[in-house]
Amino acid sequence: MEHIRTIIEPFRIKSVEPIRMSTAAEREASLERAGYNLFSLPSRDVMIDLLTDSGTGAMSAEQWAAIQRGDESYAGSPSFVRFEAAVRELFPFPHVIPTHQGRAAEKILFAVIGGPGKVFPNNTHFDTTRANIEFTGAEAIDVVIPEGRQPSLEHPFKGNVDLAALEALIVARGKENIPAVFVTITNNSGGGQPVSLENLRGVRAVCDRHGLPLYLDACRFAENAWLVREREPACAHMTVKEIVRAMAALADGMTMSAKKDGLANIGGWLAVRDDELARRCRNVLILTEGFPTYGGLAGRDLEAIAQGLEEVVDHDYLRYRIRSTAYLGDALRKADVPIVVPTGGHAVYIDARAMLPHIPLLEYPGQALAIELYREGGVRGCEIGTVMFGRKPDGTEVPAAMDLVRLAIPRRTYTQSHIDYVIEVVRHVASRRKDIRGYRITAEPPQLRHFTARFAPV
Ligand SMILES: *Cc1c(COP(=O)(O)O)cnc(C)c1O
Repeated sequence: MEHIRTIIEPFRIKSVEPIRMSTAAEREASLERAGYNLFSLPSRDVMIDLLTDSGTGAMSAEQWAAIQRGDESYAGSPSFVRFEAAVRELFPFPHVIPTHQGRAAEKILFAVIGGPGKVFPNNTHFDTTRANIEFTGAEAIDVVIPEGRQPSLEHPFKGNVDLAALEALIVARGKENIPAVFVTITNNSGGGQPVSLENLRGVRAVCDRHGLPLYLDACRFAENAWLVREREPACAHMTVKEIVRAMAALADGMTMSAKKDGLANIGGWLAVRDDELARRCRNVLILTEGFPTYGGLAGRDLEAIAQGLEEVVDHDYLRYRIRSTAYLGDALRKADVPIVVPTGGHAVYIDARAMLPHIPLLEYPGQALAIELYREGGVRGCEIGTVMFGRKPDGTEVPAAMDLVRLAIPRRTYTQSHIDYVIEVVRHVASRRKDIRGYRITAEPPQLRHFTARFAPV
């Protein structure tokens, strides 16, 4: 076996979902109906959907079996006991509080520890994390290493926290104003880039010097642990489970979206060490999510997550997962398509600004590229750039730091031939890049415009 290098999908398919093939004319009509906004496309008009990896993965036969076992008792369900045990097997926090999604865990935690005048550092805040912090009147500040902000620069841990910047921030703002330090693993908004165990130990040391708690935004903890195993020599002999537990041991709590490395379609949790904090969070939970043994979830969802957590730390699964993302990234680089390097855990990010330098920034090169991938082959990615971030609260429009198109890979959902198809589509679009034109916005809402704005070609 050792001389065979092909990494196969470590599963076979038991249940299939048809992909409806579309013609170029049909896709053109869909684009027009959608106002050139890919969020407005009916998903049946999409052939390969790489809009997000959140909640879009395929569940295993064991997860579907566990769903049958789900116990829907309002209080004290055995499904909660299984869920709690599965979480604590990896993250041995005394208090595990289920929620319907990651953002619900954030909402509860920041409602309790946030507020005006407070500051939360993080390598890079995910958008819901930032929004939930700012909603309480607190401030969210990113302290990722400088390498993490340069798309074309190679570095094994571009998600790492800049320890000197963190220390300086704590001193400048005062530790009494910093309720907690956050670290996002992997750093989603920074390109799905991992954080090393060594860096997390460094963050812990800074927190200890100032008496501050450390929280993980752990949505992609397993992908992060695999990349640590591969890239951090001191961890090469550790299992993924050991790495996850080592990271948990450094933290005082975590927020989690089970739609990512929970391998489930819905769910999340908040976990903390502190008894008094847990009591206050459970009080908010009961107001907004539900009783502490189900959060916002059905018993069957708790079962699916419990089973998913066992499967996600499997080395064969993670080898395939990380390798298949890199497979797409490597092929695009070979075709001279500019991407964020190195490839992260869950997605490949195309640098649309570098690929389409002739399109003015306020004619949205990212949006233009995302539309073109759909037009060419029914592939749906997501613009992460000026459409998403360009409109400021004062009404002005400013180009975002980068114009990227994210191709997020749903877990266990597409095979290598689907990815080969995506590679071909991107290459075709790249070969006629000079003819691609920009877009203008014809209608937009006051907030989060990328979801509903309408566009027209210029
Ligand atoms: C998805 C995500 C969240 C929010 O989780 P939801 O389940 O979508 O509410 C928070 N942080 C990170 C890093 C994420 O990727």
